[in-house]
This record gives sequence, structure tokens and C-alpha cells, in this order.
Amino acid sequence: MQHFPVFLDLRGRVALVLGAGEAAERKAALLREAGAEIRHATAFAPALLDGIAIAIGAEASDADLQALSESCRARGIPVNVVDRPALCTALMPAIIDRAPVTVAVSSGGAAPVLARLVRQKIEAALPPGLGRIAAMAERWKAAVRKRLPELGARRRFLESALDGPPAALAAAGREAEADRAMEDALANADRAPRGMVHLVGAGPGAGDLLTLRALRLLGEADVIVHDRLGTDDALAMARRDAERIFVGKARANHCMKQEEINALLVRLAREGKRVVRLKGGDPLVFGRGGEEAEALAAAGVPCEVVPGVTAALACAAGAGIPLTHRDAARAVTFVTGHRRDGGVDVSGLVRPGVTLAIYMGIAMLPQIRDGLVADGLSPATPAAVIERGGTERQRVLRGTLDEIAARAPGWVEGGPALLLVGEAVGRGAGWMPALAA
Ligand code: SAH
Repeated sequence: MQHFPVFLDLRGRVALVLGAGEAAERKAALLREAGAEIRHATAFAPALLDGIAIAIGAEASDADLQALSESCRARGIPVNVVDRPALCTALMPAIIDRAPVTVAVSSGGAAPVLARLVRQKIEAALPPGLGRIAAMAERWKAAVRKRLPELGARRRFLESALDGPPAALAAAGREAEADRAMEDALANADRAPRGMVHLVGAGPGAGDLLTLRALRLLGEADVIVHDRLGTDDALAMARRDAERIFVGKARANHCMKQEEINALLVRLAREGKRVVRLKGGDPLVFGRGGEEAEALAAAGVPCEVVPGVTAALACAAGAGIPLTHRDAARAVTFVTGHRRDGGVDVSGLVRPGVTLAIYMGIAMLPQIRDGLVADGLSPATPAAVIERGGTERQRVLRGTLDEIAARAPGWVEGGPALLLVGEAVGRGAGWMPALAA
């Protein structure tokens, strides 16, 4: 984090605005909206800083602005000088005002225009009635606290109320109905909270390839049980104070046995927690999501699966490789190159018009190549290895099956990598020319 965001309470406090002009006027107006009393000056003098909470410099001489900045720094007063990042200890964010809800966006001075674009997007996503929802929450604060003294229960109640009918009514300005709905919800609040497990696919490792549902659940989770593979971006978007439990699974380096993970999920749900079991890609594609769902069902714990973008789809899209093609492939096979006993088995996969997407296959590439060729696949069949597909660090190696088998083991850098083989893999270079080389 480059700058630490805080919200200042300026009600009844003095803010210094140095300068005469449009920018100074705009800043003064904003500060006034936040309840500050404005001390206006056009030239700097040290006494101007007495008793102020913040100083803003705008249209004034360079010497005055420098002096303002230095004196504020010396006295520990936050100072902002318009368009002069070097003179600032405080940055003015782009503001979304749904009082009492305030969102501030900063690019750390790097690109104010970008911050404004971000602000626009957030503006569009936030209901105009957000302030009224916050006001309702405030009205009910004491009653809710009294009724639900335990923090976890209170948070769960508020999360559902502030995302449910009471909030919708408040946002629509139907305050009396909102209060009735709130009263009702509060009266029924202690029907034992039932924990639940959401098996959530995190996609290939790029935060913006998460589904909206995954994002929402990550924002609501009490605890997130995650693997190593491709879940970092998703974790960064999760609720800050959600507990995170790493049960990592990299090949041949299991941190926790599957049975232990299953037992952990059951225990957490029985404690009444909202559990997100976060997995790379899709939970049901080589992710053991099926095993975990079975264990949860056997224990009577409710469970939901949220699909994710599986590696084959992310890699194909990222590398510009069609998985099916009317002239070249009419089916796709997702297959693991890594058997439970450590061996490899690709028998029965070779058929014309099928694209093979081979997961966990890089370590066994020579054996996979031999197996496919023994089953009649031409060693000249187009193939590709995509490492960290769908992420910013994606790498693509194209060639024939033989070329790939020879080159890929030395080419991979250790990130997750997928092997694609089939006639369709040779297509697509035309619409992704940058990757044709
Ligand atoms: N559930 C995951 C797969 C887990 S198995 C999914 O649906 O994608 C782990 C294997 O997936 C890795 O060995 C690799 O072959 C593949 N994989 C996962 N993420 C990948 C990525 N971003 N790029 C390429 N391959 C990936």
C-alpha cells in the first residue's frame, strides 16, 4: 500500500486554503461540505497554521506553496498542494458521496484520470439510496446490539438485513416499512445460524476471471479454506477479516490429507460459519470438489458449488486456440496426466476430431507423447503448452506433439501448465497473430 487512507472528521475544525482561484474555491467548497471552517489566504505566513486540521494549497506563488508544504510537514499537519505531488503529505481522492457512506479513490498521484474512471464505475454500482440504508442501520444499532451481543451473530444478522428486504425498502425511501421488516428480522434472529460450505472455483488465477457469485461469497465468508494454486488474486478480494486456512495442494507436496480437509470443512460449518472452500479453476474439474461435496453430504452439512473458469478454457482463450472447430474438432477431452499411483495412462483417448486438454501432464510429457503415438496419433499433430494460462504471466509454447515433448520440460518455469493436443490446436494463430511465433 502506497498511501494509508483515513477519513478526517473536520466538523467544527479549521482548514486552511491558500490561493485565489477556481481550484482553491472547489477545495474550499468540498471542505465546507465536510463541516470545516475555512481560513482563506493568498500569501503564506506561519501563523496561518495555528489550530488548523489540514491545509490545501492551490493558486499561489511557488515560494508560498513551498513554504506552506515545509511548515506543515514540520508541524505534522497534513498538506495537499493541487497538482504538486512532491509538496503533498496528503492526497485528495476522487470521492463518491453517499453520506454517511463515503468512497475515496486514489491512484497515489500516478494517474488522477484513472482514479476518476474508477470512481465513475463505483458510482454506477452503488445504489443512490445507500445513505438511507446506512441511516437505517444506525437507527437500529442499539437495538441490534442489545438483541445480539455476540459479534459473529450480529455481523451475520446485519449482513443479511443490509442485503435483504429492510435495505431494499430503506433505499426506496419507504422508511416505516423498512423499520417493520427490520423488527421482524430481529425477532427471528436466533433461529440457529446454520453453517454452510461453498465450494468456489477461483478460475485460473486472474482476479477478473472470478464469477460475480464467487466475489460476493468471498466478501461474505467467515473462513476461507484455500489451496495454493491460482487463488492469490481471489484471496486479495476476500473479506479482510475472514480467517484464512491454507491446506495447499501442489503435486506430491500435500500439506493436509484430503480426509483432514473434509473433516475441517465439516467442523467449521458445524460451528455455524460461512465457509468458502476456494479452489483453482473449477472445483469439479480435477479439484476433488466431488470428494469434498460427498463428505459434506454424508455429514449433513449443506453445500453449494460455484463454478469457475477451468484451466483448459482459460488457456485456450488466452492463447487463441479453439478447443472445437467445425473443420478440426468436434469434441474436447479433459484428462489428467497424473494417475493416483503416480503413473500415466492415456490409453483410449486418441480419436479423430478430438482436442485433448491434459492437466498435470508436464512432468510426464515423454510418457504421454509415447502413449498417444502408440495409440495412433501422429507425432506431427499440433500441440501447445500454456503456462499460467489466463493470467498476466501467461506463456505459450506451440509446436508439433514431438517438438513440444522435447522442448516443454526445459521451457516451463514451474507455474501450472496445461498441454493441448489436436488438429484444432493448429488453428487460431490467424486471429492471435502475436502468439503465432
Ligand atoms: N480445478 C483446476 C485444476 C486443478 S489440477 C481447474 O479446473 O483448472 C491442477 C492442474 O491444472 C495443473 O497441473 C495444470 O495442469 C492445470 N492448471 C491450473 N491452472 C492453470 C493455469 N492457470 N494455466 C495452465 N494450467 C493450469
